[in-house]
Amino acid sequence: MMSALFPTYARWDITPVKAKGSKLIDSDGKEYLDFISGIAVCNLGHCHPKVVSSVEEQMKKLWHVSNLFQIEGQEQVAEQLVDHSVGDYVFFCNSGAEANEAAIKLARKSTGKHHIVSLTNSFHGRTLGSMAATGQDKIHQGFGPLLTEFTYIEMNDSEALKNTVTEKTAAIMVEIIQGEGGIRLMSDEYAESLKTVCEQFGCLLIVDEVQTGIGRTGTAFAYEQLGLSPDIITVAKGLGNGFPVGALIGKERLKDAFTPGSHGSTFGGNPLAMAAAKAVLTEVFKPELLESVQEKGEWFKAELEKKLGDSKIVEEVRGKGLMLGIACHIEVAPIIKACIENGLLVLPAGPKVLRILPPLVATKSELVRACEILLTVFQEIEQKQSVII
Ligand SMILES: *Cc1c(COP(=O)(O)O)cnc(C)c1O
Repeated sequence: MMSALFPTYARWDITPVKAKGSKLIDSDGKEYLDFISGIAVCNLGHCHPKVVSSVEEQMKKLWHVSNLFQIEGQEQVAEQLVDHSVGDYVFFCNSGAEANEAAIKLARKSTGKHHIVSLTNSFHGRTLGSMAATGQDKIHQGFGPLLTEFTYIEMNDSEALKNTVTEKTAAIMVEIIQGEGGIRLMSDEYAESLKTVCEQFGCLLIVDEVQTGIGRTGTAFAYEQLGLSPDIITVAKGLGNGFPVGALIGKERLKDAFTPGSHGSTFGGNPLAMAAAKAVLTEVFKPELLESVQEKGEWFKAELEKKLGDSKIVEEVRGKGLMLGIACHIEVAPIIKACIENGLLVLPAGPKVLRILPPLVATKSELVRACEILLTVFQEIEQKQSVII
């Protein structure tokens, strides 16, 4: 197909035209069960009525003013975020990378140090700072020289952590579940080591909750489940349910580093974005919604283990809440293709992990349907594999 777009994405041959809840319809009228959710973005499902009406109302009143003005929506959304996290202050931006960029700047300015430790297989974004924080060579290729003083260590290796962090370290930056990196979970022991090391060297803990946050793992934020208390939390993806918005949430002691004129954004936290985020957080932070994510997630994971556990191509089903991965012994590209043909949209997370991110509001019967499709596809692929073997 002729296109005037830079070929930065290996796009699939599907043109979505409309969507509602977990259902997505393409230009041929084919209906899909969307268990990608725009990559953990449309957590409340496509076109959630509360978010639609909140944005619609705001659209008729005021779209944008400069951050030189008081913006009521920002005050309200900031309040929601600090009420449901260990943070005290919020800075609004437009994406995950921007939130992490702000986190790196805040860590440097507040500590006066430059060394940042992050993890291999991590993903923090594509801007120069967030790319440097990302511990994957393939993301860096051709874009050097990188921002200096980043060190990458393996997640869940407490020894490496203790041997790398020093008095010169400004911050340690982590994901609680590495999303792009393959649905890899941080262990409880490692979380304990993070606490110890941060305390010992007085460095900041930055938790990138861009993918795991906003209810995705069954709690408002994933760090809660490991008993962590990050100095900085970054969010984006699910915050606007599809309206571009990101945020950095930081602790009281960092307040004085972000003085007037020190950091900013033209669009960050504009009234339309805040109308979306306000409606999203009102829904997502309801205890009954978060509980339902835990319940559905546990059920779904157990069901996948039951149905696919015996498959020769499945290594492991892992994840928390509705952020699940099926680690395979083979490349998942053909599995994903077959799922799509059968009307189920799922993603890869690295070459050998299938990533499943249903909307948090997916119904039990939609989860059942997804399991059925996955079972069919895995059986088919396994048969083909054994023919080849
Ligand atoms: C997607 C993602 C980002 C980058 O977010 P953008 O909005 O694409 O800039 C950063 N961190 C994590 C953990 C992500 O999953």
